[in-house]
Amino acid sequence: MTRHVVVVGAGPAGLGGAAGALRTGAAVTLIDSAENPGGQYHRVPSDAYAVAGPVLRHPRCDWWPESTVWSIERPDEGVPRVHVLRGEADADGRERLVLDPDALVLAPGAYDRVLPFPGWDLPGVYTAGAAQALAKGERLAVGDSVLIAGSGPFLLPVAASLLRAGAFIRAVLEAGTAAAVARGWTRRPWELAAHTGKAGELAGYAALLARHRVPCRTGRAVIEARGDGRVEEAVTARLRPDWSVVPGTEKAVAVDALCVSHGFTPQLELPVAAGCALRDGPFVEVDADQRTTVPGVYAAGEITGIAGAQAARTEGLLAGWSAGGGAPDDPAAVRTRRRRDQAHAFAARLAGAHPIGAAWAGWLRPGTVVCRCEETTYGDLLSAAGGPSRNSAHAVKLATRAGLGPCQARICGPTVAELTGSGNPHHRPIAQPVRLGELARPPIENTHRKVNAR
Ligand SMILES: Cc1cc2nc3c(=O)[nH]c(=O)nc-3n(C[C@H](O)[C@H](O)[C@H](O)COP(=O)(O)OP(=O)(O)OC[C@H]3O[C@@H](n4cnc5c(N)ncnc54)[C@H](O)[C@@H]3O)c2cc1C
Repeated sequence: MTRHVVVVGAGPAGLGGAAGALRTGAAVTLIDSAENPGGQYHRVPSDAYAVAGPVLRHPRCDWWPESTVWSIERPDEGVPRVHVLRGEADADGRERLVLDPDALVLAPGAYDRVLPFPGWDLPGVYTAGAAQALAKGERLAVGDSVLIAGSGPFLLPVAASLLRAGAFIRAVLEAGTAAAVARGWTRRPWELAAHTGKAGELAGYAALLARHRVPCRTGRAVIEARGDGRVEEAVTARLRPDWSVVPGTEKAVAVDALCVSHGFTPQLELPVAAGCALRDGPFVEVDADQRTTVPGVYAAGEITGIAGAQAARTEGLLAGWSAGGGAPDDPAAVRTRRRRDQAHAFAARLAGAHPIGAAWAGWLRPGTVVCRCEETTYGDLLSAAGGPSRNSAHAVKLATRAGLGPCQARICGPTVAELTGSGNPHHRPIAQPVRLGELARPPIENTHRKVNAR
Protein backbone atom coordinates (compact mmCIF):
# COMPACT_ATOMS: atom_id res chain seq x y z
CA MET A 1 0.00 0.00 0.00
CA THR A 2 1.26 3.48 -0.86
CA ARG A 3 2.73 5.31 2.13
CA HIS A 4 0.81 8.48 3.03
CA VAL A 5 2.84 11.50 4.18
CA VAL A 6 1.14 14.65 5.49
CA VAL A 7 3.21 17.82 5.15
CA VAL A 8 2.11 20.86 7.19
CA GLY A 9 3.28 24.13 5.64
CA ALA A 10 3.94 24.91 1.98
CA GLY A 11 6.83 27.34 2.50
CA PRO A 12 10.31 26.41 1.23
CA ALA A 13 10.62 23.63 3.85
CA GLY A 14 7.17 22.12 3.25
CA LEU A 15 7.55 22.25 -0.54
CA GLY A 16 10.91 20.50 -0.13
CA GLY A 17 9.23 17.99 2.18
CA ALA A 18 6.52 17.20 -0.36
CA ALA A 19 9.08 16.89 -3.19
CA GLY A 20 11.28 14.58 -1.09
CA ALA A 21 8.36 12.33 -0.12
CA LEU A 22 7.03 12.19 -3.71
CA ARG A 23 10.47 11.00 -4.89
CA THR A 24 10.11 7.94 -2.66
CA GLY A 25 6.78 7.01 -4.28
CA ALA A 26 4.68 8.15 -1.31
CA ALA A 27 1.31 9.91 -1.60
CA VAL A 28 1.43 13.40 -0.10
CA THR A 29 -1.18 15.68 1.42
CA LEU A 30 0.31 19.18 1.46
CA ILE A 31 -1.53 21.54 3.81
CA ASP A 32 -1.20 25.31 4.22
CA SER A 33 -3.46 27.87 5.85
CA ALA A 34 -2.54 30.39 3.14
CA GLU A 35 -4.32 30.71 -0.18
CA ASN A 36 -1.07 30.31 -2.13
CA PRO A 37 2.01 28.17 -1.63
CA GLY A 38 5.44 29.71 -0.94
CA GLY A 39 5.39 30.65 2.76
CA GLN A 40 7.17 33.79 3.93
CA TYR A 41 9.87 33.80 1.26
CA HIS A 42 7.91 33.43 -2.01
CA ARG A 43 5.39 36.17 -1.34
CA VAL A 44 4.67 37.03 -4.97
CA PRO A 45 2.15 34.38 -6.17
CA SER A 46 3.69 34.06 -9.68
CA ASP A 47 7.13 33.30 -8.11
CA ALA A 48 5.53 30.92 -5.63
CA TYR A 49 3.70 28.91 -8.30
CA ALA A 50 6.85 28.80 -10.46
CA VAL A 51 8.66 27.10 -7.55
CA ALA A 52 5.75 25.01 -6.28
CA GLY A 53 4.19 24.00 -9.62
CA PRO A 54 5.93 20.62 -10.12
CA VAL A 55 4.96 19.54 -6.59
CA LEU A 56 1.35 20.75 -6.78
CA ARG A 57 0.77 19.18 -10.21
CA HIS A 58 2.19 15.81 -9.21
CA PRO A 59 -0.50 13.08 -9.47
CA ARG A 60 0.33 11.74 -6.01
CA CYS A 61 0.15 15.17 -4.36
CA ASP A 62 -3.08 16.41 -2.83
CA TRP A 63 -2.72 20.20 -2.31
CA TRP A 64 -4.93 21.70 0.42
CA PRO A 65 -4.67 25.51 0.42
CA GLU A 66 -6.66 27.55 2.97
CA SER A 67 -6.46 24.56 5.29
CA THR A 68 -5.37 25.05 8.86
CA VAL A 69 -4.00 22.41 11.18
CA TRP A 70 -5.57 23.51 14.43
CA SER A 71 -4.58 20.55 16.56
CA ILE A 72 -2.26 17.55 16.67
CA GLU A 73 -3.50 14.65 18.73
CA ARG A 74 -1.13 12.14 20.31
CA PRO A 75 -2.51 8.61 20.27
CA ASP A 76 -1.15 6.02 22.72
CA GLU A 77 0.86 4.61 19.87
CA GLY A 78 1.46 5.41 16.20
CA VAL A 79 1.83 8.67 14.33
CA PRO A 80 -0.07 11.70 15.72
CA ARG A 81 -3.48 12.51 14.21
CA VAL A 82 -3.78 15.75 12.27
CA HIS A 83 -6.90 17.89 12.75
CA VAL A 84 -7.60 20.28 9.86
CA LEU A 85 -10.16 22.97 9.07
CA ARG A 86 -10.58 23.58 5.33
CA GLY A 87 -11.95 26.85 4.00
CA GLU A 88 -11.31 30.59 4.24
CA ALA A 89 -10.25 31.56 7.77
CA ASP A 90 -13.01 34.16 8.10
CA ALA A 91 -15.71 32.11 6.39
CA ASP A 92 -18.41 30.24 8.21
CA GLY A 93 -18.80 26.52 7.62
CA ARG A 94 -15.23 25.35 7.26
CA GLU A 95 -14.90 21.60 6.70
CA ARG A 96 -13.48 19.64 9.63
CA LEU A 97 -11.14 16.79 8.66
CA VAL A 98 -8.89 14.36 10.50
CA LEU A 99 -5.91 12.60 8.93
CA ASP A 100 -4.01 9.54 10.22
CA PRO A 101 -0.85 9.59 8.10
CA ASP A 102 1.94 7.04 8.00
CA ALA A 103 4.37 9.91 8.57
CA LEU A 104 4.09 13.61 9.30
CA VAL A 105 6.42 16.42 8.20
CA LEU A 106 6.03 19.62 10.21
CA ALA A 107 7.19 22.81 8.47
CA PRO A 108 5.12 25.68 9.91
CA GLY A 109 7.92 28.29 9.84
CA ALA A 110 8.45 31.24 12.18
CA TYR A 111 7.09 34.65 13.19
CA ASP A 112 9.28 37.70 13.19
CA ARG A 113 10.21 38.73 16.71
CA VAL A 114 10.01 42.27 18.06
CA LEU A 115 11.35 43.32 21.45
CA PRO A 116 9.06 45.84 23.13
CA PHE A 117 10.07 49.45 23.85
CA PRO A 118 8.06 52.48 25.01
CA GLY A 119 5.63 53.42 22.23
CA TRP A 120 6.00 50.21 20.16
CA ASP A 121 2.23 49.79 20.35
CA LEU A 122 1.57 53.08 18.50
CA PRO A 123 -0.05 52.84 15.04
CA GLY A 124 2.69 53.22 12.44
CA VAL A 125 5.07 50.81 14.20
CA TYR A 126 5.23 47.59 12.15
CA THR A 127 7.05 44.33 12.42
CA ALA A 128 9.54 44.33 9.58
CA GLY A 129 7.93 41.12 8.30
CA ALA A 130 4.48 42.74 8.03
CA ALA A 131 5.96 45.75 6.23
CA GLN A 132 7.79 43.44 3.86
CA ALA A 133 4.70 41.32 3.20
CA LEU A 134 2.77 44.47 2.20
CA ALA A 135 5.63 45.74 0.06
CA LYS A 136 6.28 42.40 -1.70
CA GLY A 137 2.70 41.14 -1.95
CA GLU A 138 0.75 44.37 -2.52
CA ARG A 139 3.47 46.82 -3.64
CA LEU A 140 2.44 49.03 -0.71
CA ALA A 141 4.93 51.02 1.37
CA VAL A 142 3.94 51.38 5.05
CA GLY A 143 5.02 55.03 5.06
CA ASP A 144 6.80 57.78 3.13
CA SER A 145 9.60 58.27 5.64
CA VAL A 146 10.53 54.98 7.28
CA LEU A 147 13.15 53.95 9.83
CA ILE A 148 14.14 50.26 9.94
CA ALA A 149 15.68 48.98 13.16
CA GLY A 150 16.48 45.78 15.00
CA SER A 151 18.98 43.04 14.45
CA GLY A 152 19.97 40.56 11.77
CA PRO A 153 20.45 40.45 7.99
CA PHE A 154 16.66 40.32 7.47
CA LEU A 155 16.66 44.14 7.86
CA LEU A 156 18.35 44.41 4.44
CA PRO A 157 15.71 42.62 2.27
CA VAL A 158 13.02 44.55 4.15
CA ALA A 159 14.73 47.83 3.28
CA ALA A 160 15.11 46.69 -0.34
CA SER A 161 11.41 45.76 -0.61
CA LEU A 162 10.35 49.13 0.86
CA LEU A 163 12.64 51.03 -1.51
CA ARG A 164 11.12 49.13 -4.45
CA ALA A 165 7.65 50.04 -3.16
CA GLY A 166 8.64 53.73 -3.21
CA ALA A 167 9.38 54.52 0.45
CA PHE A 168 12.13 56.89 1.59
CA ILE A 169 14.27 55.01 4.13
CA ARG A 170 15.71 57.29 6.84
CA ALA A 171 18.21 54.66 7.97
CA VAL A 172 18.73 50.99 8.76
CA LEU A 173 19.88 50.50 12.37
CA GLU A 174 21.52 47.23 13.48
CA ALA A 175 21.59 46.98 17.28
CA GLY A 176 24.68 44.74 17.36
CA THR A 177 27.93 46.68 17.54
CA ALA A 178 30.19 46.69 14.47
CA ALA A 179 32.81 44.61 16.30
CA ALA A 180 30.28 41.96 17.41
CA VAL A 181 28.72 41.66 13.93
CA ALA A 182 32.13 41.49 12.20
CA ARG A 183 33.39 38.89 14.71
CA GLY A 184 30.34 36.71 14.12
CA TRP A 185 30.43 36.87 10.33
CA THR A 186 34.18 36.41 9.86
CA ARG A 187 34.66 33.49 12.30
CA ARG A 188 35.86 30.31 10.47
CA PRO A 189 35.98 32.15 7.10
CA TRP A 190 36.57 28.94 5.07
CA GLU A 191 32.97 27.88 5.80
CA LEU A 192 31.69 30.95 3.94
CA ALA A 193 32.80 29.43 0.62
CA ALA A 194 29.74 27.15 0.77
CA HIS A 195 27.42 30.17 1.02
CA THR A 196 28.44 32.37 -1.86
CA GLY A 197 24.78 32.55 -2.95
CA LYS A 198 23.65 34.00 0.39
CA ALA A 199 26.64 36.35 0.53
CA GLY A 200 25.87 37.52 -3.03
CA GLU A 201 22.22 38.14 -2.11
CA LEU A 202 23.24 40.24 0.91
CA ALA A 203 25.81 42.13 -1.20
CA GLY A 204 23.02 42.90 -3.71
CA TYR A 205 20.84 44.42 -0.97
CA ALA A 206 23.79 46.42 0.38
CA ALA A 207 24.50 47.80 -3.13
CA LEU A 208 20.83 48.82 -3.57
CA LEU A 209 20.88 50.63 -0.21
CA ALA A 210 24.13 52.38 -1.16
CA ARG A 211 22.59 53.50 -4.49
CA HIS A 212 19.68 55.05 -2.61
CA ARG A 213 22.10 56.58 -0.06
CA VAL A 214 20.40 54.83 2.84
CA PRO A 215 22.63 55.14 5.93
CA CYS A 216 23.25 51.79 7.67
CA ARG A 217 24.50 52.07 11.25
CA THR A 218 25.56 49.43 13.74
CA GLY A 219 25.36 49.61 17.54
CA ARG A 220 22.25 51.80 17.40
CA ALA A 221 18.62 51.00 18.21
CA VAL A 222 15.21 52.57 18.46
CA ILE A 223 14.50 52.75 22.20
CA GLU A 224 11.25 54.73 22.05
CA ALA A 225 8.51 55.69 19.58
CA ARG A 226 6.56 58.89 20.19
CA GLY A 227 3.54 60.52 18.61
CA ASP A 228 0.03 61.80 19.11
CA GLY A 229 -2.21 58.91 18.07
CA ARG A 230 0.42 57.43 15.72
CA VAL A 231 4.18 57.37 15.43
CA GLU A 232 5.72 60.75 14.56
CA GLU A 233 9.24 60.34 15.86
CA ALA A 234 11.60 57.58 16.88
CA VAL A 235 14.20 58.00 19.61
CA THR A 236 17.41 56.19 18.70
CA ALA A 237 20.43 55.61 20.93
CA ARG A 238 23.89 54.13 20.75
CA LEU A 239 24.21 50.75 22.45
CA ARG A 240 27.00 48.96 24.27
CA PRO A 241 27.72 45.33 23.23
CA ASP A 242 25.17 44.10 25.83
CA TRP A 243 22.58 46.50 24.31
CA SER A 244 22.52 48.84 27.31
CA VAL A 245 22.08 52.45 26.21
CA VAL A 246 25.10 54.77 26.17
CA PRO A 247 23.73 57.79 28.11
CA GLY A 248 23.59 61.06 26.20
CA THR A 249 23.48 59.44 22.74
CA GLU A 250 19.69 59.64 22.32
CA LYS A 251 18.47 61.33 19.12
CA ALA A 252 14.93 62.02 17.87
CA VAL A 253 14.23 61.20 14.21
CA ALA A 254 11.01 62.30 12.46
CA VAL A 255 9.28 59.35 10.75
CA ASP A 256 5.81 58.33 9.66
CA ALA A 257 6.50 54.61 9.99
CA LEU A 258 8.88 52.43 11.93
CA CYS A 259 9.75 48.81 11.05
CA VAL A 260 11.30 46.66 13.74
CA SER A 261 12.66 43.11 13.79
CA HIS A 262 14.82 41.27 16.32
CA GLY A 263 15.06 37.89 14.60
CA PHE A 264 12.48 35.11 14.44
CA THR A 265 10.46 32.97 16.81
CA PRO A 266 9.80 29.44 15.53
CA GLN A 267 6.13 28.36 15.47
CA LEU A 268 6.36 25.52 17.93
CA GLU A 269 2.76 24.82 18.89
CA LEU A 270 2.36 21.88 16.47
CA PRO A 271 5.66 20.11 17.32
CA VAL A 272 5.09 20.74 21.04
CA ALA A 273 1.55 19.32 20.75
CA ALA A 274 3.00 16.28 18.92
CA GLY A 275 5.38 15.74 21.85
CA CYS A 276 8.62 16.60 20.01
CA ALA A 277 11.59 17.45 22.25
CA LEU A 278 13.16 20.89 21.90
CA ARG A 279 16.86 21.82 21.93
CA ASP A 280 18.75 25.09 22.58
CA GLY A 281 15.56 26.49 24.07
CA PRO A 282 13.44 27.31 21.09
CA PHE A 283 14.09 24.75 18.31
CA VAL A 284 12.82 21.25 17.52
CA GLU A 285 15.44 18.55 18.08
CA VAL A 286 16.07 16.49 14.92
CA ASP A 287 18.55 13.78 13.98
CA ALA A 288 20.64 13.53 10.80
CA ASP A 289 17.50 12.65 8.76
CA GLN A 290 15.25 15.40 10.24
CA ARG A 291 13.52 12.82 12.46
CA THR A 292 12.13 14.33 15.68
CA THR A 293 12.01 12.45 18.97
CA VAL A 294 8.45 11.30 18.15
CA PRO A 295 8.30 8.22 15.86
CA GLY A 296 6.92 9.06 12.42
CA VAL A 297 7.22 12.85 12.91
CA TYR A 298 9.82 14.85 10.95
CA ALA A 299 10.57 18.57 11.15
CA ALA A 300 12.11 21.03 8.69
CA GLY A 301 12.69 24.74 8.17
CA GLU A 302 12.63 27.55 10.68
CA ILE A 303 11.32 25.33 13.48
CA THR A 304 14.65 23.48 13.56
CA GLY A 305 16.88 26.59 13.28
CA ILE A 306 16.89 29.94 11.48
CA ALA A 307 18.99 29.59 8.35
CA GLY A 308 17.00 31.03 5.43
CA ALA A 309 14.85 29.74 2.61
CA GLN A 310 17.48 27.62 0.80
CA ALA A 311 18.38 25.78 4.01
CA ALA A 312 14.69 25.26 4.79
CA ARG A 313 14.12 23.66 1.39
CA THR A 314 17.13 21.36 1.82
CA GLU A 315 15.93 20.24 5.25
CA GLY A 316 12.48 19.69 3.80
CA LEU A 317 13.83 17.48 1.00
CA LEU A 318 15.60 15.31 3.55
CA ALA A 319 12.62 15.20 5.93
CA GLY A 320 10.24 14.21 3.10
CA TRP A 321 12.67 11.60 1.76
CA SER A 322 13.00 10.04 5.24
CA ALA A 323 9.25 10.30 5.96
CA GLY A 324 8.49 8.51 2.66
CA GLY A 325 10.82 5.66 3.63
CA GLY A 326 13.70 6.65 1.29
CA ALA A 327 17.04 4.86 1.84
CA PRO A 328 19.37 6.96 4.03
CA ASP A 329 22.41 5.97 1.94
CA ASP A 330 20.87 6.98 -1.39
CA PRO A 331 23.50 9.22 -3.10
CA ALA A 332 21.02 12.11 -3.49
CA ALA A 333 20.14 11.89 0.22
CA VAL A 334 23.82 11.90 1.15
CA ARG A 335 24.39 15.03 -0.97
CA THR A 336 21.30 16.73 0.50
CA ARG A 337 22.51 15.89 4.02
CA ARG A 338 25.85 17.55 3.26
CA ARG A 339 24.11 20.70 1.99
CA ARG A 340 21.88 20.69 5.08
CA ASP A 341 24.93 20.47 7.38
CA GLN A 342 26.48 23.46 5.61
CA ALA A 343 23.21 25.32 6.09
CA HIS A 344 23.30 24.55 9.81
CA ALA A 345 26.81 25.95 10.05
CA PHE A 346 25.44 29.10 8.39
CA ALA A 347 22.57 29.23 10.91
CA ALA A 348 25.03 29.01 13.79
CA ARG A 349 27.09 31.84 12.24
CA LEU A 350 23.94 33.97 11.89
CA ALA A 351 22.90 33.38 15.49
CA GLY A 352 26.45 34.12 16.67
CA ALA A 353 26.67 37.38 14.71
CA HIS A 354 23.30 38.75 15.82
CA PRO A 355 22.58 37.66 19.40
CA ILE A 356 20.03 39.62 21.41
CA GLY A 357 21.90 41.71 24.00
CA ALA A 358 21.12 40.70 27.58
CA ALA A 359 20.53 44.30 28.74
CA TRP A 360 17.73 45.18 26.27
CA ALA A 361 15.12 45.22 29.07
CA GLY A 362 16.83 48.42 30.27
CA TRP A 363 14.89 50.24 27.46
CA LEU A 364 11.59 49.42 29.20
CA ARG A 365 9.68 51.54 31.70
CA PRO A 366 7.15 50.18 34.20
CA GLY A 367 4.30 51.46 31.99
CA THR A 368 5.63 49.94 28.74
CA VAL A 369 3.09 47.54 27.26
CA VAL A 370 4.57 44.07 26.72
CA CYS A 371 1.44 42.03 25.82
CA ARG A 372 -0.46 44.22 23.38
CA CYS A 373 -3.60 42.08 23.26
CA GLU A 374 -4.18 42.35 27.03
CA GLU A 375 -2.22 45.60 27.61
CA THR A 376 -0.06 43.94 30.25
CA THR A 377 2.81 46.24 31.20
CA TYR A 378 6.39 45.56 32.18
CA GLY A 379 5.47 46.73 35.71
CA ASP A 380 2.65 44.11 35.89
CA LEU A 381 5.13 41.39 34.88
CA LEU A 382 7.75 42.52 37.40
CA SER A 383 5.14 42.35 40.20
CA ALA A 384 4.03 38.87 39.07
CA ALA A 385 7.62 37.62 38.75
CA GLY A 386 8.30 38.74 42.33
CA GLY A 387 5.13 37.08 43.59
CA PRO A 388 3.92 33.49 44.00
CA SER A 389 3.57 32.98 40.21
CA ARG A 390 7.36 33.05 39.69
CA ASN A 391 8.81 30.57 37.18
CA SER A 392 5.49 29.21 35.93
CA ALA A 393 4.33 30.43 32.52
CA HIS A 394 0.78 29.38 33.33
CA ALA A 395 0.71 31.25 36.67
CA VAL A 396 2.26 34.41 35.14
CA LYS A 397 -0.49 34.25 32.49
CA LEU A 398 -3.24 33.97 35.07
CA ALA A 399 -1.77 36.70 37.29
CA THR A 400 -1.20 39.25 34.49
CA ARG A 401 -3.37 38.03 31.55
CA ALA A 402 -0.26 38.30 29.33
CA GLY A 403 -0.74 35.90 26.42
CA LEU A 404 -4.46 35.33 26.96
CA GLY A 405 -5.58 37.61 24.10
CA PRO A 406 -6.23 36.83 20.43
CA CYS A 407 -2.58 36.17 19.54
CA GLN A 408 -2.35 33.61 22.35
CA ALA A 409 1.21 34.70 23.26
CA ARG A 410 2.60 34.17 19.76
CA ILE A 411 4.05 37.70 19.83
CA CYS A 412 4.73 38.34 23.52
CA GLY A 413 5.28 34.76 24.77
CA PRO A 414 9.09 34.52 24.39
CA THR A 415 9.50 38.08 25.73
CA VAL A 416 7.30 37.42 28.78
CA ALA A 417 9.19 34.17 29.44
CA GLU A 418 12.50 36.04 29.25
CA LEU A 419 11.41 38.95 31.44
CA THR A 420 9.84 36.79 34.15
CA GLY A 421 12.10 33.73 33.96
CA SER A 422 9.00 31.58 33.40
CA GLY A 423 8.98 28.42 31.25
CA ASN A 424 7.88 27.16 27.79
CA PRO A 425 5.59 29.72 26.12
CA HIS A 426 4.78 27.38 23.20
CA HIS A 427 2.32 24.98 24.80
CA ARG A 428 -0.92 25.76 22.96
CA PRO A 429 -3.14 22.68 22.48
CA ILE A 430 -5.36 24.59 20.04
CA ALA A 431 -2.82 25.92 17.56
CA GLN A 432 -5.16 28.19 15.58
CA PRO A 433 -8.49 29.89 16.38
CA VAL A 434 -11.47 27.57 15.86
CA ARG A 435 -15.22 28.21 16.22
CA LEU A 436 -17.32 26.17 18.64
CA GLY A 437 -19.75 25.39 15.78
CA GLU A 438 -16.86 23.93 13.75
CA LEU A 439 -15.81 21.79 16.70
CA ALA A 440 -19.34 20.52 17.17
CA ARG A 441 -19.48 19.16 13.61
CA PRO A 442 -18.43 15.50 13.21
CA PRO A 443 -15.09 15.32 11.36
CA ILE A 444 -14.56 13.64 7.99
CA GLU A 445 -11.80 11.10 8.51
CA ASN A 446 -8.89 10.19 6.22
CA THR A 447 -10.26 11.48 2.92
CA HIS A 448 -6.85 11.12 1.30
CA ARG A 449 -6.59 7.39 2.01
CA LYS A 450 -10.12 6.84 0.66
CA VAL A 451 -9.27 8.67 -2.56
CA ASN A 452 -6.11 6.57 -2.85
CA ALA A 453 -7.81 3.28 -2.17
CA ARG A 454 -10.40 3.76 -4.90
C1 LIG B 1 7.84 37.60 8.20
C2 LIG B 1 9.03 36.96 7.53
C3 LIG B 1 9.60 37.54 6.37
C4 LIG B 1 10.72 36.96 5.76
N1 LIG B 1 11.31 37.55 4.66
C5 LIG B 1 12.47 37.05 4.14
C6 LIG B 1 13.15 37.66 3.03
O1 LIG B 1 12.72 38.66 2.54
N2 LIG B 1 14.29 37.11 2.56
C7 LIG B 1 14.82 35.96 3.12
O2 LIG B 1 15.88 35.49 2.68
N3 LIG B 1 14.20 35.36 4.14
C8 LIG B 1 13.06 35.89 4.67
N4 LIG B 1 12.44 35.30 5.74
C9 LIG B 1 13.00 34.05 6.19
C10 LIG B 1 12.54 32.98 5.18
O3 LIG B 1 11.25 33.29 4.77
C11 LIG B 1 12.57 31.69 5.80
O4 LIG B 1 13.93 31.34 5.93
C12 LIG B 1 11.87 30.58 5.01
O5 LIG B 1 10.69 31.04 4.42
C13 LIG B 1 11.57 29.47 5.97
O6 LIG B 1 10.83 28.51 5.34
P1 LIG B 1 9.79 27.61 6.14
O7 LIG B 1 9.18 26.73 5.12
O8 LIG B 1 10.45 27.02 7.33
O9 LIG B 1 8.71 28.62 6.73
P2 LIG B 1 7.65 29.59 6.01
O10 LIG B 1 8.17 30.13 4.75
O11 LIG B 1 7.25 30.53 7.08
O12 LIG B 1 6.42 28.63 5.68
C14 LIG B 1 5.60 28.08 6.67
C15 LIG B 1 4.22 27.83 6.09
O13 LIG B 1 3.47 27.08 7.04
C16 LIG B 1 2.13 27.54 7.04
N5 LIG B 1 1.55 27.20 8.35
C17 LIG B 1 1.99 27.57 9.57
N6 LIG B 1 1.22 27.06 10.53
C18 LIG B 1 0.25 26.36 9.91
C19 LIG B 1 -0.86 25.59 10.39
N7 LIG B 1 -1.12 25.45 11.69
N8 LIG B 1 -1.67 25.00 9.47
C20 LIG B 1 -1.43 25.12 8.12
N9 LIG B 1 -0.37 25.84 7.63
C21 LIG B 1 0.45 26.44 8.51
C22 LIG B 1 2.26 29.03 6.81
O14 LIG B 1 1.06 29.55 6.26
C23 LIG B 1 3.45 29.11 5.83
O15 LIG B 1 3.01 29.15 4.49
C24 LIG B 1 11.29 35.81 6.32
C25 LIG B 1 10.68 35.21 7.44
C26 LIG B 1 9.58 35.78 8.05
C27 LIG B 1 8.97 35.12 9.28
